[in-house]
Amino acid sequence: MKAAAPPPPAAIVVTAEPVGKGIWWLAGSGNHRSVVFEFSDHLVLFEAPLNEARSKAVIDKARSLSPKPLTQAIVSHHHFDHSGGLRVAVAEGLTIITYRGNEAFFKDLLARKHTIVPDALEKNPKPATFEFVDDELTLMDKAMEVRLYHVLDNPREGTNLFAYVPRDRVLVQADLYDSTWQQHLWGANTLWNIEHRKLRVDKDVPIHGEIEPFQQMVKTIKEKPSIPAAN
Ligand SMILES: [Zn+2]
Repeated sequence: MKAAAPPPPAAIVVTAEPVGKGIWWLAGSGNHRSVVFEFSDHLVLFEAPLNEARSKAVIDKARSLSPKPLTQAIVSHHHFDHSGGLRVAVAEGLTIITYRGNEAFFKDLLARKHTIVPDALEKNPKPATFEFVDDELTLMDKAMEVRLYHVLDNPREGTNLFAYVPRDRVLVQADLYDSTWQQHLWGANTLWNIEHRKLRVDKDVPIHGEIEPFQQMVKTIKEKPSIPAAN
């Protein structure tokens, strides 16, 4: 056993599927997707998932989609499978957009030393720049409008953001819904948040799972047990 060479790490595959004008869904190996939004003169990434290797591959893929610079990364919430690429995103010079409640934890993550196995930020230290979202924030120019909303009253966790593109009626959400789940315990709250923000959604473009028509997502949630929305 000791003499055996460790198995090579699984290859990281990042695919890019257009899901609207200037919107790509980055999937591939694993079940941690990201989304790229194309503005007039820059690109914005939604989610730096899992770890440095996955997130660096996602950042490289985003940069291959357009000659415009990738300047910002929206990090939906603090769970590692969504924020594990935070440090490499900062090392790559991206401004981090996240909910205000993640500030202390994210700043702590960025301040840690990584001396045993130096990571991208340890090798290339950079001060982080942030843009914090309170209740909502709209990123908009002539080419793209992305609205970010804090997920309200979710029974699972309280510092999550979701995105909505009004032109394409696209919802981008992390951990609010995945068609493969056996139960949708906070499904009623997910639908309430969309209703509360008065959004007309046609398509769910998720961080976990597959893209679905919104009507299918509503049907699936309603068919499976859910904690009633408190609202
Ligand atoms: Zn997750």
